[in-house]
Amino acid sequence: MNSEPLDQTCDLAAPPEWECPGVSPHPARARHNHKVLDWTSLAPDRYRVHEHTCACTAVYYELIEHGGLYLIHKVVQLDTPEHTFAGPWRRAESRHR
Ligand SMILES: [Zn+2]
Repeated sequence: MNSEPLDQTCDLAAPPEWECPGVSPHPARARHNHKVLDWTSLAPDRYRVHEHTCACTAVYYELIEHGGLYLIHKVVQLDTPEHTFAGPWRRAESRHR
């Protein structure tokens, strides 16, 4: 078990809602000039997760790849989790969303 202290990205986040394993970044707060994405509940049939935010918060995000393109997968951790997707983008574009 890794006992390293939490990384510095934790201070960007709201207080953890579940016990935080401290291994993934937390979603940053929205910038005032942020771009609003279009979300769909249509899920790709298969995808690979490349990066993800910490799942200790009610909402977490994954950067996923499907067919060589990248999407953001948003998960709202309700009793029945809600899954929505934004994208797709090429890899370089996906990192600036
Ligand atoms: Zn966390």
